[in-house]
Amino acid sequence: AATIWYENDGDLSVLNGKKVAILGYGSQGHAHALNLRDSGVDVVVGLRPSSKSVEYAKEQGLEVKPIEEAVAEADVVMILLPDQHQARVYKEQVEPNLKPGAALAFAHGFNIHYGYIKPSEDHPVFMVAPKGPGHIVRREYAAGRGVPVVVAVEQDPRGDAWAITLAYAKALGALRAGAIKTTFKEETETDLFGEQDVLMGGVNHLVECGFEVLTEAGYQPEIAYFEVCHELKMLVDLMNEGGLNKARWSCSDTAQYGDFTSTVVDESTKDRMRHQLKRIQDGSFAKEFMDDQAAGAPKFKELQEKFSHEKIEEVGPKLRAMFSWNNGPAADADEAESF
Ligand code: NDP
Ligand code: MG
Ligand code: MG
Repeated sequence: AATIWYENDGDLSVLNGKKVAILGYGSQGHAHALNLRDSGVDVVVGLRPSSKSVEYAKEQGLEVKPIEEAVAEADVVMILLPDQHQARVYKEQVEPNLKPGAALAFAHGFNIHYGYIKPSEDHPVFMVAPKGPGHIVRREYAAGRGVPVVVAVEQDPRGDAWAITLAYAKALGALRAGAIKTTFKEETETDLFGEQDVLMGGVNHLVECGFEVLTEAGYQPEIAYFEVCHELKMLVDLMNEGGLNKARWSCSDTAQYGDFTSTVVDESTKDRMRHQLKRIQDGSFAKEFMDDQAAGAPKFKELQEKFSHEKIEEVGPKLRAMFSWNNGPAADADEAESF
């Protein structure tokens, strides 16, 4: 069974007298910086001087410094930059300024697992990866709750890496929910698999295919949108509360029978998933993504452009506006600004 840690397993005093640098102030960065600060941790945010977030973070009462300076005074450095930019920032701004023995932390195992970042042996290396978007990590903390995390230690030169990891997870509010022990390898490979084969690549393409099949058969796009996209949320909410069983339980017998007998997803789907998993395990997906990024991301940009014009997006905005809960102010100003 998985090892799971809770509130009493973390000791915040491990971080007493220590400085934690949070690099980046995006989705995860703002949540980690604010949650740790509110838990009493001494936090400095590291940003490039040109960042539009410098003033924003200062307004929230945080100390902000250029990345090099924040790193130079930190005992723990949490890297919360986009995965594809971490290696260069690490080489140029982090590594040359790291204090001897300072701990390095990540919220995703990608760069360590695939070897894009190779810290020297004297640095503890750990991961606290929230299983939720950064804005929810902040929102839940502020509400007195927490988002679960997975935690891992890759290097433990002094024997204190786990204590630091659990103290960090506690300060983030995550131990209120729970921290599951994993490894950098397991977190990286399963995270990539989940997003590309089920949560995004699976579901998003399924929705698009369903929409196209219905509209190509002459059904109204508005009706198609409701049937293959909008209702998904309500089923996912039930799934979240009580798993597949609860989602099925709430649906009609007709729907359940159609679900049980559907042939859309079958063994051949699993074969294609296994193929995708192999490309994750052997590093070829990571290499393809990182090589494209290094070349200025031509393929990534082309795909972003192409997918933003999917047919379903033509009716989506109009229909979403029919729901009162989509019309109010966005849940927080930060989301409204960046979405
Ligand atoms: P974001 O894209 O939200 O981070 C943006 C931040 O990085 C900004 O502060 C930006 O500053 C800074 N930044 C971007 N490029 C550079 C650069 N070249 N040099 C210096 N600073 C830069 O990242 P996320 O929060 O989404 O992801 C951070 C980490 O967390 C990743 O490892 C990700 O896998 C992981 N993670 C993310 C989750 C999420 O909810 N998004 C969930 C779980 C894990 P500027 O204003 O200067 O551009
Ligand atoms: Mg994930
Ligand atoms: Mg991911």
